[in-house]
Amino acid sequence: MANTKFPERGIPKEEVLQSLDAYRAADGDWQHGKTWSLVYYAGEEITALTEEVYRKFFHTNGLNPFVFQSLKRLETETLSMAADLFHGDGQVAGSLTSGGSESILMAVKTYRDEARLLKPHITQPEAVVPASAHAAVEKAAHYFGVKLLHAPLAADLRVDVAAVEQLITPNTIFLLGSAPQYPHGVIDPIAELAALALQHDLRLHVDACLGGFTLPFIKELGGNVPDFDFAVEGVTSISADLHKYAFAAKGVSALLYRNAEIRKHQYFAYGDWPGGLFISPSATGTRPGGAIASAWAALKFIGREGYLEITRGVLATTKKLLEGVRAIPELEILGDPPAGIFAFGATHLNVHALADHLEHRGWVVDQQVNPACLHFMVTPAHAGVEDAFLADLRAAVAEVKAAPEQLTPSVALYGMRAAVPDPAVVNQFIKDAYSRFMTEGGEFSFEGLV
Ligand SMILES: *Cc1c(COP(=O)(O)O)cnc(C)c1O
Repeated sequence: MANTKFPERGIPKEEVLQSLDAYRAADGDWQHGKTWSLVYYAGEEITALTEEVYRKFFHTNGLNPFVFQSLKRLETETLSMAADLFHGDGQVAGSLTSGGSESILMAVKTYRDEARLLKPHITQPEAVVPASAHAAVEKAAHYFGVKLLHAPLAADLRVDVAAVEQLITPNTIFLLGSAPQYPHGVIDPIAELAALALQHDLRLHVDACLGGFTLPFIKELGGNVPDFDFAVEGVTSISADLHKYAFAAKGVSALLYRNAEIRKHQYFAYGDWPGGLFISPSATGTRPGGAIASAWAALKFIGREGYLEITRGVLATTKKLLEGVRAIPELEILGDPPAGIFAFGATHLNVHALADHLEHRGWVVDQQVNPACLHFMVTPAHAGVEDAFLADLRAAVAEVKAAPEQLTPSVALYGMRAAVPDPAVVNQFIKDAYSRFMTEGGEFSFEGLV
């Protein structure tokens, strides 16, 4: 652990701020479009507003909507705006959570608890999810004791619906599809999954954490986006992150159910607590009011016209990037991604080496496996960086081709991972390496894995 002692006395404000600026100096440069994930930046005007709103609600706590009536109102109005966007009717009910992971945790917990009540013969609940489902789904199933069965992807990287049906058993409680899925940005066949769910009396969660606040606008602009929301009968819940393409402050996501009857299985109550009648809608206790208020403010301030404008820009940037990547013979866009989320693989060169060469040039790109590819999420911050990125990409491809055997750090890391067939061993190593990194610092490495 860093050897930082508890401060004896306070230091001046200027010193606090200066230290923090020094700490930030080596962070990913998201403001200038150098990062391709993690930060959704729509410019100074929107940021200034959401910051001001956050500050106004800095001290408020959504844990108690009786005390903070304003937050109750902001939460229900935000959920109502989202439900309207997702073609919900007056029955739709939900919660704001701290993010996509908590929304998914809660949906899984809701369906588990509902099944305990309505399908008591099930002792080991199961769910069938695409192999491309977000890792948060794995985490939720792990936390709540639901067994996941993974359906393979079809050639277009959308889940293979026939394979999903084959994996349904008498213990299945829900299905899941993503709109779009994170790794390759393609939309699972939601209508087909919904038909299956209805036929087998199952719930269907749509993970629109990424797409919730961009797909409706892409559709309106004429993009190739099939219905993925409550317009599809059989969709019983939707998660949509406000802190992604809605541009709210970090820490807020919407989880919506088709009706309040389903939602009640999400709630936790404890009436015998010496601390008072306890009711909590979701996983966290204290809920930062600033995040809730920033979500409301972003939707109100930007509005449908504003989101259409932002989306138009993101799509134009994405088009340039996709054309540029397609013009490089060694690279291949995976699937047919309709939004600003895409991945490319490579023939005859190692994409992990390519990632390291891009990193040398200041770009922060995410690396993926099964298949090996690099992952990009386009935001307004990327308007104007297309040419610089593509030039660096062409240069990086040439560099990797010139030294195909070079063992860069990522080639070593992913090579070691691939050499160990047992996922449990790899998972344990990831935990150990992360723990080492958090306590001792240095490089994240799989030293000793093979
Ligand atoms: C981001 C994301 C999540 C997880 O959301 P967090 O806000 O990071 O917890 C889940 N599913 C998808 C598709 C996502 O893109």
